[in-house]
Amino acid sequence: MTVQLRTLVDVVRRHAVQQPDVVATICEGRRVDYATLHRVSNQVARGLQAAGLGPGDRIAYLGRETEHFYDLLFGAAKTGVVLVPINWRLAAAEVEHILRDSGAALLFVDSGSAAVADKLAPELPMLKQVVALDSDGVARAGFAAWVSAQPDANVLTRVTPDTPLVQMYTSGTTGLPKGVVLAHRSFFAVRDALASADLDWLDWREGEVNLVGMAGFHIGGLWWATQGFVSGVTNVVLREFTTAGVVELIRTLRVRTAILVPAMLRLLLVEPGVTKEHFASLRKVVYGGAPISAALLARCIEGFGCEFAQIYGLTETGNTAICLPPADHTPDSGKMQAAGRAYPGFEVKVADDKGNPLPPGEVGEVWLRTPAAMVEYWNMPEATAKTLVDGWIVTGDAGVLDEDGYLFIRDRIKDMIIVAGENVYPAEVENVIGRHPLVAESAVVGVPDERWGEAVYAFVVPVEGQQLTERDLALHLRGQLAGFKQPLHYEFIDRVPRNPSGKILRRELRERFWQGHERR
Ligand code: AMP
Repeated sequence: MTVQLRTLVDVVRRHAVQQPDVVATICEGRRVDYATLHRVSNQVARGLQAAGLGPGDRIAYLGRETEHFYDLLFGAAKTGVVLVPINWRLAAAEVEHILRDSGAALLFVDSGSAAVADKLAPELPMLKQVVALDSDGVARAGFAAWVSAQPDANVLTRVTPDTPLVQMYTSGTTGLPKGVVLAHRSFFAVRDALASADLDWLDWREGEVNLVGMAGFHIGGLWWATQGFVSGVTNVVLREFTTAGVVELIRTLRVRTAILVPAMLRLLLVEPGVTKEHFASLRKVVYGGAPISAALLARCIEGFGCEFAQIYGLTETGNTAICLPPADHTPDSGKMQAAGRAYPGFEVKVADDKGNPLPPGEVGEVWLRTPAAMVEYWNMPEATAKTLVDGWIVTGDAGVLDEDGYLFIRDRIKDMIIVAGENVYPAEVENVIGRHPLVAESAVVGVPDERWGEAVYAFVVPVEGQQLTERDLALHLRGQLAGFKQPLHYEFIDRVPRNPSGKILRRELRERFWQGHERR
């Protein structure tokens, strides 16, 4: 009898016994098998306990993707400690907020983010220790030494599907950064739902190589990597996404499955000299995280020559709640523009502003009820109560259902811009622009961008009688906001249009943008 896998702890223990030599992760050519992942994560767990940490405590990871991210994920899981993955592209002030808010006791940092960690550490009383993930010129305790000082012995903390596993920072629908607490169950719900309906479009086979195209600090990357681990396949994790590098990895490692965001798919298709032959090993690509145009999807199906599945969801829903499986990726299905349907046992409704369901064909806000939903926003009961209503997650996306239950995403109600798969919230950009002494007010919108899907576009009103240039603003934003959040364009205007209650009329600003640009 096989015991059902219900937590990540079960996963690594099972694979270490049943397939110890199968490679669990490949990063920059370094291979870690499942036996090693189990051993190192045991040592991580012991190290966390030796540091006095236990269930409910937080540790953070700030750096590019490496195999250590997963050592820490599984090690923390074994002790009930919650891992807080932080986007290394964030500016110091943004990282500080996350460290403070989560109260992380240990910070694991790579050499690229060491300067930020050094600057922040003295200001953060909760932070006991900073551990270097690599040794590139960093003079402090290194991960290898930290781990090897610990015994490889199983930890006996009780971990259940409801034990919190990670805390992922996102701004949800309002623009204020919030820590989404996700338990183990979030990473098993889709798999269980597909299995119960005999619908397993993931159908991973033993020994397959799976590309994790998104980073682990994004729910899409973390979810996809964990699905791979649960199935016992080999996950290729990317230190950095470069088109040529990914094409080469697919070819040399004979990658069979992958998760990629639409902007990455487009880059891979337009890479000079790349043909269908380069993707010959691919069996299935899962994409999502941002809308995809009909034209790009058609080009992908032609250009990659493999099956595609779309996923839709939020960090708050533990990633995907809706999926458009490979079978619907044909022009005669009539569903190619849909985000997909809810998994068995998951629910979707399109609702009016009171949460009442609307009939098929009517556009409203998308609500999702799923067994993978977040536990809460960390330390924010009011924000939690607004987003998690009777078990439903209120998404901030506008959509419409058809008679067959397929969901079509139409627009975003929440103020969010997606730049190459990374979320940007106008309010946070406006806050920083507004700190420039010569800015009277500003308003930020997303505009279509050929390369990145969307780009940040800022309308700025200078203080009366003052001169301000794009360069002044670009210099001001540097160091305060992650690069991908910085406006690609600025336009100086006389006043920001607002409704009577003072809300910025972003639709009007987007129209204004279109007056100067050609619609495609
Ligand atoms: P995040 O919490 O970072 O995963 O962002 C969630 C948001 O990304 C959703 O609310 C949508 O606005 C957008 N999104 C995710 N998947 C899709 C998709 N397949 N199609 C369109 N938008 C998507």
